[in-house]
Amino acid sequence: MINLELSAAHQETYNNLRMVAEHMMRPYSRKYDKEEHSYPKELEEVAKLLEGGGGAAKSSGKAKPDQEGVKNGGNLLSVSAYEALCWGDVGLMLSMPGRGLGNAAINAVGTPEQIKEFSKSYAAMCITEPGTGSDSANISTTAVLDGDHWVINGEKIYVTAGGRCDTLVVWATLDKSKGKAAIKSFIVRKGTPGCEVTRLEHKMGIRASDTAAISFSDCRIPRANLLGSEEVATDAEGRKKAFGGVMQTFDNTRPPVAAMAIGTARAALDMTREIIGHEGVELSFNKKPANSSALEAELYKMEAEWEGAKLLVQKAAWMADNGLPNSMEASMCKAKAGRMGNYVTLRCVELCQSLGYSENELLEKFARDSKIIDIFEGTQQIQQLIVARRLLGKSSTQLK
Ligand SMILES: Cc1cc2nc3c(=O)[nH]c(=O)nc-3n(C[C@H](O)[C@H](O)[C@H](O)COP(=O)(O)OP(=O)(O)OC[C@H]3O[C@@H](n4cnc5c(N)ncnc54)[C@H](O)[C@@H]3O)c2cc1C
Repeated sequence: MINLELSAAHQETYNNLRMVAEHMMRPYSRKYDKEEHSYPKELEEVAKLLEGGGGAAKSSGKAKPDQEGVKNGGNLLSVSAYEALCWGDVGLMLSMPGRGLGNAAINAVGTPEQIKEFSKSYAAMCITEPGTGSDSANISTTAVLDGDHWVINGEKIYVTAGGRCDTLVVWATLDKSKGKAAIKSFIVRKGTPGCEVTRLEHKMGIRASDTAAISFSDCRIPRANLLGSEEVATDAEGRKKAFGGVMQTFDNTRPPVAAMAIGTARAALDMTREIIGHEGVELSFNKKPANSSALEAELYKMEAEWEGAKLLVQKAAWMADNGLPNSMEASMCKAKAGRMGNYVTLRCVELCQSLGYSENELLEKFARDSKIIDIFEGTQQIQQLIVARRLLGKSSTQLK
């Protein structure tokens, strides 16, 4: 039976992270939004604290089943940790040393040796290229085996934390003519000759987070740094399995990314309720909608949207904790949470009018920050496409 309750220990971790978000992240939100590309050194203290005190945002997945065998483990903890920290600031959360999307990929599919070797690294994820975004099966970066090394050539763009990280997980093809089956991911240490950060982007939101373009020119990395198998499957089943292995990391990373929208939208809702509370509008969930003002009715609607999205995120995480295939639910929660985050944060700006739009408050920043959550880690449209394929039982070639 599904159980989305946080254990007492996980609830305590959530409460602690909310305190960290409030007192160690929020005070710097505006500073690093204005000073794009400057390094948020204050986060080093936060990272140390998280490392020492339970390491909550790094999920371990170790959970004890209850009497009915239901587990609430690392994935559920992870989404609640992301929610708590993004209530503070999603851009700063994305800049937290040691917690990149590449780390999630290494932890999900790495061998015990790779996990051990890179456990202390800060790993970013490099999929997107100048000619390839949503169609990730179409990447052109190549990896060629030369003795005991892979030689990587290509260009990656929009790499979150690409400037500040020390490790990259790079998607590359062993042979483009063999399609998806030949796409593998490789661990590249920054500083390896041939790997160079060429540009940092200027952005609409999450300006505290660095977003880099990185080029690979005859970049030689150890043969052991390939994640997964070297083999390129030739039969249909093997090909499906091979790319499925690379895509599998998304089942683990999409719910936490969706949880970023839950945290950001919660921040906007809390701030809006505080602002309109000063005008004498208090929310009472006992009132019938017909007896509510238009403002109250709008806030109830947003709260319902928020709750719906949060439940989907928790369900996808709970399924991962209990070993259930969750690809469809991971995409469903990412689509819903991304859409909800955009709607709620922008509506909060509207409801608070000049205060919402002014830089005196953070509401306008929440609205700018939330847009990216609906884009990266797969856009809303792509998530809906994946859900449709699953529901209709169609493959990616049958439904594009
Ligand atoms: C700030 C930022 C950080 C990022 N971080 C990373 C990162 O760390 N690592 C990384 O690899 N990438 C990262 N990205 C890239 C991001 O994942 C891509 O931007 C995203 O996948 C969309 O790709 P695209 O921009 O090429 O748009 P396109 O794929 O060209 O899509 C354009 C539009 O068409 C829609 N569309 C495309 N195909 C279909 C279809 N089949 N059906 C319906 N609609 C469709 C899309 O939803 C979108 O609205 C980041 C991007 C940004 C802006």
